[in-house]
Amino acid sequence: MRKPFVAGNWKMNTDNHTSLELAKRIASGSREITSHNASIAVCPPFIYLQSVAKVLSASDIAVGAQDVYFESKGAFTGEISPLMLKDVGCTYVLCGHSERRHVIGEMDELINKKVTAAISGGLLPILCVGELLNERDAGQTEQVINRHIKKGLAGLSNEKVSAVTIAYEPVWAIGTGRTATPQQAQETHDFIRKLIAQMYNDTLANEIRILYGGSVKPDNAKDLMSRKDVDGLLVGGASLNADDFLAIIRAAV
Ligand code: PEP
Repeated sequence: MRKPFVAGNWKMNTDNHTSLELAKRIASGSREITSHNASIAVCPPFIYLQSVAKVLSASDIAVGAQDVYFESKGAFTGEISPLMLKDVGCTYVLCGHSERRHVIGEMDELINKKVTAAISGGLLPILCVGELLNERDAGQTEQVINRHIKKGLAGLSNEKVSAVTIAYEPVWAIGTGRTATPQQAQETHDFIRKLIAQMYNDTLANEIRILYGGSVKPDNAKDLMSRKDVDGLLVGGASLNADDFLAIIRAAV
């Protein structure tokens, strides 16, 4: 049985004060949800990770980073290593978020290095995959997902892949208010799970968690979660509002 997983991606939002307030409100509003029945994480900007992790240290809410570099230290100006993220209390890290792929220009090879380094550094990567609108319209969704997953996980052993969560985030649904239908999400999640079975084995495919992301809101979370292969939700905009994020968590658990 896969445990539901809800993660909030705060992107480049909040400030010193509001990040702490948001974290406190999420922690106090989700006291009844323990790590036995769900995994919950928030991904604040790098600069607030440590203070948010401190506020959440007495709760069951984990902290994740939104990105990571693949080297452990050295002359890489502006970058943050897996060890640094561990050091300030991170458990998870997003790798290959669509804004990093399509705004910053990250390619699959770089994302693969980040996933690999994250696992070696003791973090749990959330590998984000998803097609653009023109790719969906051209019937290329499975081809794109196939590439993102195969290249993103290249070279990882069965044991290492068990540290990974996949997030299916159709790019046309991110921040647009246009959510994939639960049926569209289920179809792609099913495709991903079968791909993992082909690449690794059935046990791993049954265990790996596949999150859906893209305009998740309190009113569509339950429907999305009702699908067999939707194991959790990666939430952007709605995770910046404590009430909305808590409602999404309750819908998912
Ligand atoms: C995201 O940032 O991963 C995301 C899914 O954003 P939103 O929920 O705002 O579409």
